[in-house]
Amino acid sequence: MSEASSLQTGSQMRLYGCPTCGRVSQLLHAVPDGTFLQCPRCATPLYHERPRSLQRTWAYLIAATVLYIPANLLPIMSTSNVFGETLHTILGGIEELRTGGDWLLAVIVFIASIAVPLLKIGALLVLVITAQRRSRWKQVERAQLYRMIEAVGHWSMLDVFVVVLLVGTIRFGPLGGVMPQPGLLAFGAVVVLTMLAAGSFDPRLIWPEEKDDTRHP
Ligand SMILES: [Zn+2]
Repeated sequence: MSEASSLQTGSQMRLYGCPTCGRVSQLLHAVPDGTFLQCPRCATPLYHERPRSLQRTWAYLIAATVLYIPANLLPIMSTSNVFGETLHTILGGIEELRTGGDWLLAVIVFIASIAVPLLKIGALLVLVITAQRRSRWKQVERAQLYRMIEAVGHWSMLDVFVVVLLVGTIRFGPLGGVMPQPGLLAFGAVVVLTMLAAGSFDPRLIWPEEKDDTRHP
């Protein structure tokens, strides 16, 4: 018997790590599957694998992908002045910034509102598809990718910041005004849904246990 196969895993030893306070607890008696377990120190629910992780991640991802389309096609805001009302989409806003000579701002808006959400959706798709196939392909790199998505998540409010920047670039006249439009709602939903998708994904699924690994040896 090789050394690797003689090692017991945490789940075989009924060990549970608390994601909140770090305490490791051992369950002394077998309990039926699905029993609700809590950290004895801080009462955080304990799992070996997050329940229905793949299903929930898929649901959030599909919703985010669908809403990404109206977020970019629908106007995110309208501005009005004495000459009438103008509707602005994100891409249109970037174009206005570029033609107006604000290159740096145009690049920041493009990265934050078009590139980052798209890359985040793409990276999560890679993670969820490979996890579903119990793939052993580039596991270390996939774990790094997951940590990167988590790190980007902390900067998700950048997307909202972009809208503030766009609003700030509009020169208001005495009778001017700015109104949010449906695109902004879809845009905000994409940000929240990709955060929820990243939060639902269980990184343990990158490392499927040997004993369950029947489909992809
Ligand atoms: Zn705890």
